[in-house]
Formats: sequence, C-alpha cells, structure tokens
Amino acid sequence: MNVDFLPVYRPDLSGNEKLYVNQCLDTTWISSIGDFIDRFEGGFREITGAPYAWCVSNGTVALHLAIHCLDIGPGDEVIVPTFTYIASVNTIAQTGAKPVFVECRSSDWLIDIDDVEAKITPRTKAIMAVHLYGAVCDMPALSALAKSRGLHLIEDCAEALGSTYDGKHVGLFGDVGTFSFFGNKTVTTGEGGMVVCKDEALARRLKTVKGQGQSPTQRYWHVELGFNYRMTNICAAIGLAQIERLPTILARKRAIGDLYRRLCAERLGNIVSFQKLSANVVSSDWLVSLLLPEGTDRTKVMGRMQENGVDTRPVFYCAHQMPMYSNSEHFPVSEAIAAHGISLPSYPTLSSADVARVVETLANALV
Ligand SMILES: *Cc1c(COP(=O)(O)O)cnc(C)c1O
Repeated sequence: MNVDFLPVYRPDLSGNEKLYVNQCLDTTWISSIGDFIDRFEGGFREITGAPYAWCVSNGTVALHLAIHCLDIGPGDEVIVPTFTYIASVNTIAQTGAKPVFVECRSSDWLIDIDDVEAKITPRTKAIMAVHLYGAVCDMPALSALAKSRGLHLIEDCAEALGSTYDGKHVGLFGDVGTFSFFGNKTVTTGEGGMVVCKDEALARRLKTVKGQGQSPTQRYWHVELGFNYRMTNICAAIGLAQIERLPTILARKRAIGDLYRRLCAERLGNIVSFQKLSANVVSSDWLVSLLLPEGTDRTKVMGRMQENGVDTRPVFYCAHQMPMYSNSEHFPVSEAIAAHGISLPSYPTLSSADVARVVETLANALV
C-alpha cells in the first residue's frame, strides 16, 4: 500500500492508553470490575454534564439497553430516521417493537420533525433522534413534541460526543442518550459504548439490566431479565486516556472540518454541499461528509480518489431500502443524500497539508 495513503479514520492513541492498559495487566483487573470503569464513567459525566453514565460493551447494546429499559417491546412503534446507521433501527426491532421510518431535512440531513408528527399513532412509544456526523437534531422542538404527545425521546449520540445545542451536550435532552467508542468514533475503546440519563430510577434500572439483572445488594439473585452488556476495565482504561485528551481531539477535528469547508468553497465553489447547521449547534465534526453534485458517478469519483491514495466512504444507505425493512415507502430527501454523500478522512492526526491534498484529489476526481 502507498505510504501516503490517507484512511477515513485512524484513532490517536498517543496519550496514557498504553500506561493504563499495562496497569490493568499488572494488577490483573482485566474484566468488568475495576478502577478505570469508575474513572471513565466519572470523566464522562463531567464532560457531558450527565448525572448518570454507565459504560457498556458497544454503542449498539447501549441503544438496545436504553430502549428495553423504557419498556418498549412488541406492539410498540418507535419513530426513527431512515437515513441513519443500521444499529439505530436494528435495536428497535430487537426489542420486538416496530421501527417507523421518517424523512430527514435537506439542510442538516437530520430527523424531520414535521414527518415525525405525521407518523405518530396510538402505538408510538418513542422518538429516536440520531445526531448524524456530529450535527445536532432540533432538540428543543423534539423535546416539546415528545412531551406534548407523552412519548419517550431517545438520543443516538454515537457520532456526537462533544456536540452541543445552545451549549448543552447531546444526550441530555431526551430520556436517555447513547454513545459509541468504536475504533473510528471521536473517542475509542476498541469496542465500547455509554448510556447516560438524568432520572435516578431509570439509571438504576439501566445498571441492573446491563449486569444480568442482578440485584445490586444480593449476588446471584436476579430481579429481572438482564443482559451481559458490561465493558471491561481494559477498554475503560483506554477510554479514560482518550477523554483526558478530548478537548485537543475535538479542537483538531473541528479545525479539520473548517479547513475542508473553506478549501472546498475556494476550489469547488458550491458544487459540493455540507450539512448546514443552525447557529445553536456546535458539531463534533465526526466524519466530514459532503454531497457530490447530482448526476455524478459516486463510485467512479471514490475509485479515482482511492487510486490517488485517499480513502472515502459512502454515507449510510437508507434503512427502508434494506432487505429486512424494505417496504413501498419513499423518502426522496433521504434517498438523495444517501445516493450522493461521501465521508472524507477526518481523524485528528490528519495534517492541514493532508486536508488540502484530499480536496485537490476530490477536485481532480470530479472533472
Ligand atoms: C457507531 C454507531 C452506532 C453503533 O455503535 P457500535 O459501537 O458500533 O455498536 C449506533 N448508531 C450510530 C449512528 C453510529 O454511528
């Protein structure tokens, strides 16, 4: 492989990651009890302002745990954007509930509240807001709608660690928020996730259910159906080292995002477009993504960039078009974004020269 190959993502593990992992090995605390679990959860509460935060084994089970603990199941409906990563949808289906798809907005590619309102039925139990690519859904409007209709609000914040709306961190607007620490997320633990909430009773339930439903006071006595969704102390050790440097990681990612937007505007004018954020939103700039001009052969553009050592990804495909969820519905805005979007290299150690090279490669691939 070309030495100058720029992948879409590469985690930055240059802090205390190795030191902390070695402490786990040296002390033999390698399983799901240990100091790093508590320190990682504590640090995460500090960063987000969440009163409760529990780490789990990945971002998908964080969502499943959250939906399960809101007592959502067979016969219930959960409203979710069709343009999202598949885990948002699968975890609804895993509880036996039905995912009900809604359109996204052409401005910021996020859940369209008018369509949410139109899809509410007597069976609707919850709305799932997904903060895609670090942009933030219109949380004041969604919270007001959920409250007025007596619905739960779940936030999939997997891509939005560090994202805020009016200065408030995502995950705190709804009943429950979930995060992912997969290898390409803003903070990684290899595989990992976190669930945050404000309500004490829900927090207790989440903690019990993630640990096999075991009573907090009586070992091997299980008070309800549970799962093993625990994170290991080793993963938490990596997570703690990562969040120690979160401000630096976020600042660099935002600078990369700003540079991409500026250079694309200079080099390509308005032929490519980015998510347009409201002034209330600060994005984590997780993966800088853009829409290619209509009529462009995306596969060809991505292929040309690859030949020149620049990795890209298509944005997510729409869930309503996947075999297990497909029906006759159409979502023109979501389908157009899914067809034209690509994500660019967005990792924190990417240099400004690398960013310029990506933009030049894109410009050349487009002609
Ligand atoms: C990454 C991601 C998830 C799932 O997280 P995993 O840790 O990979 O299980 C869920 N939702 C969205 C939007 C994601 O990007």
